[in-house]
Amino acid sequence: MPMPQLSRSLISGFFQSLSRAPASAALELGDLSLSYEQLWNYAGRITACLKDVLDPSETVVAVLGDRSVAAYGGILGVLGAGRGYVPLNPKFPVERTLVMLQASGCRTVVVGKECAATLESLLPRLQKPLTLILADPGWRPQASVLPIHRVIPGENLSKTSSPCEPDVKAEDTAYLLFTSGSTGIPKGVAVSQSNVVAYMEYAARRFGIHGGDRCSQNFDLTFDLSVHDLFTCWDAGATLCPYSAQTLTPAALVDELGLTVWFSVPSVAMFASKLGLLQPGAFRTLRWSLFCGEALSASLAEAWQQAANNSILENLYGPTEATIAITWYRWNSATSPAECVRGLVPIGWPFDGQQVCAVDENLAPVPHGESGELCLGGSQVTRGYLNDPEKTARSFVRLKHTGEQIWYRTGDLVRQDERGCLYYLGRRDFQVKVNGYRVELQEIDLVLREAARTELAVAIPWPLSDGSASGIVGVLYGSDPAQDAAIIAACESRLPRYMVPNRIYHFPQIPLNVNGKIDRAKIAEMLTSPEL
Ligand code: AMP
Repeated sequence: MPMPQLSRSLISGFFQSLSRAPASAALELGDLSLSYEQLWNYAGRITACLKDVLDPSETVVAVLGDRSVAAYGGILGVLGAGRGYVPLNPKFPVERTLVMLQASGCRTVVVGKECAATLESLLPRLQKPLTLILADPGWRPQASVLPIHRVIPGENLSKTSSPCEPDVKAEDTAYLLFTSGSTGIPKGVAVSQSNVVAYMEYAARRFGIHGGDRCSQNFDLTFDLSVHDLFTCWDAGATLCPYSAQTLTPAALVDELGLTVWFSVPSVAMFASKLGLLQPGAFRTLRWSLFCGEALSASLAEAWQQAANNSILENLYGPTEATIAITWYRWNSATSPAECVRGLVPIGWPFDGQQVCAVDENLAPVPHGESGELCLGGSQVTRGYLNDPEKTARSFVRLKHTGEQIWYRTGDLVRQDERGCLYYLGRRDFQVKVNGYRVELQEIDLVLREAARTELAVAIPWPLSDGSASGIVGVLYGSDPAQDAAIIAACESRLPRYMVPNRIYHFPQIPLNVNGKIDRAKIAEMLTSPEL
């Protein structure tokens, strides 16, 4: 199928805002405020350097940074050079970062000084030399292997690049992310310029963000919802306000930062609610309250709506594979409670130009009112998993009634009513959300089993509230409780914090279902026992 012509690229909106209002604030990080001009002044140096050092086969560049000027400037710098960015999180175990770096094929990494320790443990484990662009002047990693790498210190980023539209094609990667994989290896999803431009154009119409807005930046940069944070904000010439890591919860800052646009997973709102922050009228400055990433409960939606009483609240839904979000539902305090199923807010209707279809196991559409697996089609749907034709073939499919069109099978179970409104019913597999993070339980099972040297070990999302999990526990049979600390430490060395079991339980027997498989639902039931 011929690729459509690109009307713009992911960075175009930033450049337009830069030329329209260069002195407006683009980024506020604590006490530091950078205008569009200052931020590009920084990012443009990275672009200029990348243009010098990259060879044409390097289509993606990693950015190792965390809520810093280096991280945001690195992303802009990479996009300005006409490449896709691969965000890496310094808080992830080095082993996982290594897997992502190798799978992405990145040979160049932009690094912020906040990642010095991560870089130092990463460098000795690399099999091939890298080009390291140290985005902050005045520091060098300490590692005996440093000389084998090509290191470009921040002081040398003296030349800047003019803000000109990069030469990119519709199918070029804009960003490459990794999500949890059930076989133990994270799955790479390359989102193309045309995928993300389709989202940005729709979001601009839907949310009408403008230069006076102050937008939240709650999502980790390795999570695709952060792409919405950064680029819907910069497209509009608004100010991006990342919360600082010292804050107990980002919601505590809504008032202090004067935020007008809020976007987070419901878990963040739940935490704010537990801290008693959702008082009526508490978040008066907000004009948009957007939630995505996991099921939103009706009670939480209403409590947030009361707190952010001047805002429009929407529940967005979408997987990384279909670019950020693809359906919407607008909360209405008067009518929505009656539309909720099992206490969950509907996920609503597809964005204009995108398609949804609920299917049975044979990929035939199910009638309205019946449960089916949600399939997604349209310009936001990506082309599959990086270097994994098997998984791609399983999840990116043709449906019987729509000819050659490719649909993404989400694994989400939904019901659609006569009006076309979609209701989220759960998953058909072992993918769960833990505090909004996507987790394949089998990925944790594998690590747990290796660490505990037993086949009878299983990861359970726990505790649960309002249908979402705030942690993971490990349940084992036939192993020694004295090993628990060592097992958890082994998990910590391989899994990101949110996937590591908080606690290990030892059961005298692990329940099996009729197929002889470990029965996770039964175990979750057993965890509620007051004797535990
Ligand atoms: P991710 O790729 O991390 O964005 O995760 C995508 C998955 O998160 C979806 O397939 C759903 O299972 C879940 N999800 C995202 N948004 C919602 C929502 N609004 N309601 C229920 N589940 C959601």
